[in-house]
Amino acid sequence: MDAKRVRRQGEADQDPEMEKGERWRGVEVALVGLLITLPLLVFLFGGHWSTSAFFSRGAPLPASTKGSRNVSSSSSSAAASLPTIPTPKNILGGLLSPAFDERSCLSRYKSALYRRASPFAPSSYLVERLRKYEALHKKCGPNSRRYREAVEQLNSGHNSHDSQCQYVIWFPCNGLGNRMLSLAATFLYALLTNRVLLTYVPKEQANLFCEPFPGSSWVLPPYFPIQNFYRFNRDSPQSYANMLKNKVISNNVNVSAESLPAYVYFHLEQFRLRLDNNIFCEDDQLILAKFNWMILKSDSYFVPPLFLMPMYEDELRRLFPAKESVFHHLGRYLFHPSNSVWGIITRYYESYLTKADERLGLQIRIFPEKPISFDDMYDQLFKCLMKEELLPTTTTTESSSNSSSTIKRLKSVLVTSLYSGYYEKIKSMYYENPTSTGEIVAIYQPSHEEWQHSEAQTHNQKALAEMFLLSYNDKVVISAWSTFGYVAHGLAGLKPWILLRPSWNQKTADPPCLRAMSVEPCLHSPPSLDCKAKRDVDPGALVPHVRHCEDVGQGLKLVD
Ligand code: GDP
Repeated sequence: MDAKRVRRQGEADQDPEMEKGERWRGVEVALVGLLITLPLLVFLFGGHWSTSAFFSRGAPLPASTKGSRNVSSSSSSAAASLPTIPTPKNILGGLLSPAFDERSCLSRYKSALYRRASPFAPSSYLVERLRKYEALHKKCGPNSRRYREAVEQLNSGHNSHDSQCQYVIWFPCNGLGNRMLSLAATFLYALLTNRVLLTYVPKEQANLFCEPFPGSSWVLPPYFPIQNFYRFNRDSPQSYANMLKNKVISNNVNVSAESLPAYVYFHLEQFRLRLDNNIFCEDDQLILAKFNWMILKSDSYFVPPLFLMPMYEDELRRLFPAKESVFHHLGRYLFHPSNSVWGIITRYYESYLTKADERLGLQIRIFPEKPISFDDMYDQLFKCLMKEELLPTTTTTESSSNSSSTIKRLKSVLVTSLYSGYYEKIKSMYYENPTSTGEIVAIYQPSHEEWQHSEAQTHNQKALAEMFLLSYNDKVVISAWSTFGYVAHGLAGLKPWILLRPSWNQKTADPPCLRAMSVEPCLHSPPSLDCKAKRDVDPGALVPHVRHCEDVGQGLKLVD
């Protein structure tokens, strides 16, 4: 792979092609910069600041229209891109609760301003269910009387039938993208089963996200009776599948709640690209529903199989009339970068991306278990960009329009990758040659960490910042199989172009990329459903809205 090189940030700004029109853009940037930073100054120096108070005083600004971005600086008109701040009562169409202190989490109020408007409005039923969930979380969450009672029950070593609050404790594994997808899936599972979601937050994940539920916390308090969550795995005797196998419990749905152990471990980590049996079968879910405490460990977006279960069908239809909007809404509801991560995001965006007329995000993920040479990967990427007309071709001749003083269209390309080579090579191409369209193409890459360090907090902060920065683009190209990429396009509400994996007899994939059929992430590891059918069935052939993924043959994804 490409040798480590020190990248000079802002290098592309020195590109001579970019000097023209710079002064005009400078005025725009100053105007928009003022609009973006003024609220911050008011907050810092004026004591009490409210986004709604600042932007909606007098005649309210028009709501954003589909396809437009609220924070931008199009060279056509700075005035037309005045930022509109949603009032706290109606953030993301009511998706987010208004009951928060705005200053505690700036991204909650501002992130949507950096994106194109969402193509999906949340259903009124989803909004209603989220407010009900928040009330339940407040009633049963850490520090409540009911939580203390539930912990006492857990300490007693027995389950009970009269608990008013049931819990699912999410335990993470693998990289941040995997974690965010599995956490969103666990939250949906909590909504469907009326459980309260608590998260085990390891130190490398501390201070990444704001609290999503008002008046309570989703962090599992310390001094919880069960310690050492790392011991839970597929072989744990407390796992539901093993308890059935070892006859600690029976699969009789009439089993009494009091006869069950104090908690159940629900193992949803992929193993050889399959999820365990006895997970997505209704009888099993009826038994699992009797446990007041569930520990769930997962690296997977296990949402598609929930859509295969008749018991959740009505509820899911009401929650998500557009099936491909599940992660888009749940991700935007749950994941708000902490103020320190938000600082990284906004510093980068405002330094490099604000000025662009059009933004393209490229995510290049090389998996150690599927190595590909730098040249082959670059070749595939280049073919995809040209074939899909995502970037202009270059010429060798300088035309008069290239040297005139007219304002040119500025295209920004944000590259995210652990390596700097792809960024360097694309940047050189547009540095050394003019584009055939006369557009200016500016290439940026926020970091190149070289190695995955999911155990390190600052590394994860950058990963989160880059997923969000990718989600602020107008178009996104992602790597096959990458949950990092899925999170970015899912939050954005965009159907990405997916750089496919070459099959075993190819050097590069042909076609090099495909446009995804849905905004939803792919579940790589489908469950075995033979508990239901008593034979192995194809979960991608049961209902029209659960299909196999473009990039992962056996994977499952929701489509409309
Ligand atoms: P996946 O392995 O591609 O499915 O995505 P994950 O997010 O689960 O794990 C990959 C991890 O590697 C990320 O969470 C980051 O820690 C790191 N990583 C991979 N690609 C990038 C990148 O482009 N930028 C940064 N900052 N980190 C990356």
